[in-house]
Amino acid sequence: MARSTPVERFAAKTTPGPVPTGPNTPNTPCLLWPEGSLDRDGYGRFWVEGRVVPAHRWSYEQKRGPIPAGLELDHMCSVRRCVADGHLDPVDHRTNVLRSTGPSAVNARRTKCKAGHDLTDPANVRVSHPPSHPNGMRKCRACARDRARRARGSQLAPVATLPIRTTPERTAA
Ligand SMILES: [Zn+2]
Ligand SMILES: [Zn+2]
Repeated sequence: MARSTPVERFAAKTTPGPVPTGPNTPNTPCLLWPEGSLDRDGYGRFWVEGRVVPAHRWSYEQKRGPIPAGLELDHMCSVRRCVADGHLDPVDHRTNVLRSTGPSAVNARRTKCKAGHDLTDPANVRVSHPPSHPNGMRKCRACARDRARRARGSQLAPVATLPIRTTPERTAA
């Protein structure tokens, strides 16, 4: 049996999918990677030259050339197992997150917090970097102040119930 080339093996794994629907999606069909060869996040895995690589990145580099350092490939079709090079757009991580529909993307696009404070005002926004959000998540300062005030209020509450002296000691003496 003749050894097949990576390009042939790659082509043998893919099946044409539907043309994506939705705003700003490509008008060509997806090229789908088999469900059995996906990583935890749903991206295709391709075994080539002794290692496993993301199938969509390999596809893009074969057809279009190297992906610029630091850039990710955004699936314009929103189909993670699609490896159609025409559906992939090299963008920086933040753009990729903003374009996606996951909770962090929705949060990053929000202009108001749950309480209605302005999240477009940099003075009201604190960006933290917890391990779950290495690229930063936005926190509302006004809400943090309200929380702190409520916490102080509950600590002070017992003091307010003490009997109030109506006669100051000094004048009574
Ligand atoms: Zn696609
Ligand atoms: Zn708020």
